[in-house]
Amino acid sequence: PSKRTRLIAGNWKMNNDLNEAKDLAQALVAALPEIPEGVEVCICPPTVDLRVVSCKGGVKESPIKLGAQNVYWEASGAYTGETSVAMLKSVPVEYCIIGHSERRDYFKETDEDENKKAKALIAGGIVPIFCCGESLETREAGEHVAFVTAQIKAGLEGVEISSGDQLVIAYEPIWAIGTGKTATADDAQEVCGAIRATLVEIFGQEIADGIRVLYGGSAKPENIAGFLEKEDVDGALVGGASLKADSFAAMVEKA
Ligand code: PEP
Repeated sequence: PSKRTRLIAGNWKMNNDLNEAKDLAQALVAALPEIPEGVEVCICPPTVDLRVVSCKGGVKESPIKLGAQNVYWEASGAYTGETSVAMLKSVPVEYCIIGHSERRDYFKETDEDENKKAKALIAGGIVPIFCCGESLETREAGEHVAFVTAQIKAGLEGVEISSGDQLVIAYEPIWAIGTGKTATADDAQEVCGAIRATLVEIFGQEIADGIRVLYGGSAKPENIAGFLEKEDVDGALVGGASLKADSFAAMVEKA
């Protein structure tokens, strides 16, 4: 198992209106009055729900941390529909998912976009949860390690951090997201290990040793323990199973 503080992060995606978000946050706070030693928990609701989830009656005064699902890199101005780092920071938000395959695929975000988001977040004191992962076609061609490594190098080009806790990576094979198909724990370790080696090349050993690398893709209470036994898997990014308080809490308890 990894020696780093584990991170279990919930990605709610485009689910839950204000009332539902408040209810789920409340149920999570009740289900997780305390969090096991060496584990950190974060939930990432839709942008419009962040405020209600952060307030009293939400995760305020609980150990559960808050993340966003997207950000724009410019500081302010005529960017209709976008949200800045400072706006997220004022909620307050501690983490922000970037580079999710749904954003890369449906919204045509590029490595260059993710790179600008990563730099803006780090400069503003929010920790990026930088997602990467290959398609089934790339995996079947045996090119998954090369593909993910290239995504990391392009997305993190010129990114500067002074400590590993300023960055989180999530390895999410696209064929495992929302499909019920999971990578095996060995598949996850193979790629997470290669990601760590790439992080060592970019940031040096000491910083790379402190960066959490998560697995994501149909992670659930029944399979999370297997992933977390692996040396380079430091937690999970959880989609579907994060929408029910009992299943998300069960995953935190197994971490
Ligand atoms: C995700 O999209 O971040 C994810 C891991 O989804 P799921 O757990 O539903 O596969």
